[in-house]
Amino acid sequence: MDFQLTREQELLRDTVHAFADEVLKPRAAALDRSREFPIDNYRRCAELGLCGMMVPETYGGAGFDGVSYVIAIEEVSRACASSGVILSVNNSLFCAPVLRHGTEAQKRKYLAPHARGEKIGAYCLTEPDCGSDAAALRTLARKKADRYLLKGNKVFVTNGVAAHTFVVYATLDPKLRHHGICAFIVERDFPGLRLGKPEHKMGITCSGSVEIVLDDCEVPAANLLGAEGEGFKIAMSTLDGGRIGIAAQAIGIGRAALEESLAYSQGRRAFGQRIADFQATQWKLADMATELEAARLLAYRAAWLRDQQRRCSLETSMAKLFASEACMRAAKEGVQIHGGYGYIDEYAVERLFRDAKITEIYEGTSEIQRLVIAKEILKED
Ligand SMILES: Cc1cc2nc3c(=O)[nH]c(=O)nc-3n(C[C@H](O)[C@H](O)[C@H](O)COP(=O)(O)OP(=O)(O)OC[C@H]3O[C@@H](n4cnc5c(N)ncnc54)[C@H](O)[C@@H]3O)c2cc1C
Repeated sequence: MDFQLTREQELLRDTVHAFADEVLKPRAAALDRSREFPIDNYRRCAELGLCGMMVPETYGGAGFDGVSYVIAIEEVSRACASSGVILSVNNSLFCAPVLRHGTEAQKRKYLAPHARGEKIGAYCLTEPDCGSDAAALRTLARKKADRYLLKGNKVFVTNGVAAHTFVVYATLDPKLRHHGICAFIVERDFPGLRLGKPEHKMGITCSGSVEIVLDDCEVPAANLLGAEGEGFKIAMSTLDGGRIGIAAQAIGIGRAALEESLAYSQGRRAFGQRIADFQATQWKLADMATELEAARLLAYRAAWLRDQQRRCSLETSMAKLFASEACMRAAKEGVQIHGGYGYIDEYAVERLFRDAKITEIYEGTSEIQRLVIAKEILKED
């Protein structure tokens, strides 16, 4: 067992860290307030190869491994949590399923522009009446000659306001539940697709979440991803990868809360000493650092397993569950260490606290992660 990052991984970490400090971090508070999709951040990330990190170079990607991906998303999210999830969705929820399940023609057409960051991808599974229970989705797919007509509404679509291409999940017949679900690659200007209501969010305010309305949206049959009825399997295996990205995002947000708290606690004084000199503060800092380190190891391991093409639903759910809850605890204690100032938006921990919460919700809530983990560990051999 080797706990040493490779030279390439260290170089990537240092490069993305410096870039995030110089470019992303100074903009994060203003973007949080403006709620504008940070297209310039995305383009700058593209210059570093962060949009299609695990896409092979032959398809226009950067050809990194999964651990490198965790490293980069952590560094980006430490500076700007919205940019972290925007990248995570394009990498894990758009490029990854096209790479894994796409035909050669689909890969040639869609991977390169998304991996190079010229285009933005999104993932449309959740509907107004179903999120956790994805097999209950109701968006209909009707085959008509050489096309499918998609009808239904998708909500909370990250990147949606700026996306050029969406992987949309729809069913041939809701009664078939997971057996009826299909995945489609849908372009923004296919007839019948329009953006609906933008979501006004608590945190990650500029990640472009929007409702997508499909009104008999016309999708060429060639844009079916995988076979008919394979969509549920594609959605779930995609989420295995996505959860690694969200674990990395959570570690980044939590680490930012820790770093802000370390700095603040060594400057702020009470009762004649630095608040960092109170054991109560030290214990908080020690717990934050320990939990984030444990989360990072879980995320690296899940990413490594996925790279080996090994089954990793258990490990990805453990990484996502632990990292997101460690992130939330770190953000909560970060606010506490800042006292009243932690509640004021001039201090980064106020934003980090709001950004942290979503990591316990999207790509499977903490309850759903526990359900997956319990199912795996109760499985008979
Ligand atoms: C900011 C944001 C961005 C998002 N981005 C995307 C995106 O890009 N694409 C996309 O498709 N979706 C996206 N989502 C949707 C997200 O993945 C869902 O909100 C999430 O999976 C939960 O689904 P739900 O909101 O329908 O909650 P529900 O499924 O209604 O759950 C409500 C509560 O019940 C609990 N619960 C449900 N089932 C069980 C069970 N079996 N056992 C125990 N507890 C249970 C849940 O844990 C939760 O606490 C996003 C959501 C948000 C808020």
